[in-house]
Amino acid sequence: MKTVTILGATGSVGTSTLDLIERAPDAFRIKALTANADVEGLAAAAKRTNAELAVVADESCLPALEAALSGTGIATAGGAAAVCDAARQDADLTMAAIVGCAGLGPVMAAVEQGGTVVLANKEPLVSAGEVILAAAARTGAMLLPADSEHNAIFQCFEPGQARHVRRVVLTASGGPFRDWSLDAMRRATPEQAVAHPNWSMGAKISVDSATLMNKGLELIEAARLFPIDPDKIEIIIHRQSVIHSMVEYADGSTLAQLGPPDMRVPIAHCLAWPDRMETPMAPLDLLAIGRLDFEAPDPARFPALGLARRALDAGGARPAILNAANEVAVAAFLDRRIGFLEIAAIVADTLDRYDPPAPQTLDDVLAIDGEARSIAGARVKDCVN
Ligand code: NDP
Repeated sequence: MKTVTILGATGSVGTSTLDLIERAPDAFRIKALTANADVEGLAAAAKRTNAELAVVADESCLPALEAALSGTGIATAGGAAAVCDAARQDADLTMAAIVGCAGLGPVMAAVEQGGTVVLANKEPLVSAGEVILAAAARTGAMLLPADSEHNAIFQCFEPGQARHVRRVVLTASGGPFRDWSLDAMRRATPEQAVAHPNWSMGAKISVDSATLMNKGLELIEAARLFPIDPDKIEIIIHRQSVIHSMVEYADGSTLAQLGPPDMRVPIAHCLAWPDRMETPMAPLDLLAIGRLDFEAPDPARFPALGLARRALDAGGARPAILNAANEVAVAAFLDRRIGFLEIAAIVADTLDRYDPPAPQTLDDVLAIDGEARSIAGARVKDCVN
């Protein structure tokens, strides 16, 4: 039996993880569940799974959580530090499914603990990749990628064969605006942006999928996770989201991982790894799917891809600035304070205005993240005025 902590248990990835765990009660036991402010969802999940501990990051929600769990014997805590404490517990496996750089401290705490850390939360790896990887090397923590593309690469990347890898191909659905004109995208609403054609996900990653910044963040994530030159990582649009990514070898063999567009497939792979487990998904019906299409992404309509590629190439603080500005701009778009096309413009502008030295420590990353957020926030205000 594996003990599991889920950081971000009330979100899209968190509830998919709980769904799988609740179907296999003899295989997993929940240590801790965390959320930001969704007391109802957290308390219900903690009761169903008989978790040892439930934590809300928003401390003002703690009294409500205590009331919801009183008499159950489930311990409660509140505040950002308490989320890190939960991540530091000695679970066999920690699912990192908080959204954004808010997950950075908890991911680092889980890595410091040295167990298996399943990474759905991609933003910490983008902003603080070197710091997290160095900590994992020091503590022996195993990082398993739950992001569907990286999980696909993980399944296809033969250990010890890195020198024979010619190319890694990250597939992208293209998001809801893949066939829209620039003019139509200018008027896109948050409702249209979060209506992803293939995947059901949280609001932030759905908007990232619409701008293709998600694929840009994944490009950086892939370069961090796999021993491959960034120039050899290619992005192609594959609108059916059946092939989740591919690894091409020097002999001309290309290995691909296929599956339904449901996060429970890669999450199950991580939960059971190195074993396999059942999932409730119907088998892939290739005859019903019929065809698989591929096309090149359009850099003019989706400038976020180029911004991410250049941030990765430049390295240092650039990925952290890219990520922080994007988080601020996406939140402003979801709040209807800026237009859809202004998201990438604000990221580009923040990168232009701010060029600090490369971060060496987690505190350096947090300082860069904070400064980039304030520059991007000021730019949001310019757009509003
Ligand atoms: P959601 O928005 O659905 O869920 C986010 C979770 O994080 C919730 O549990 C939320 O709590 C919690 N949370 C939010 N803010 C904070 C905070 N400041 N401190 C602590 N906890 C917080 O996100 P997703 O599940 O869609 O995505 C999670 C991560 O996984 C993202 O990094 C995303 O890019 C990545 N990912 C997601 C995929 C998907 O299919 N959804 C696919 C691949 C990667 P509360 O509910 O209380 O707000």
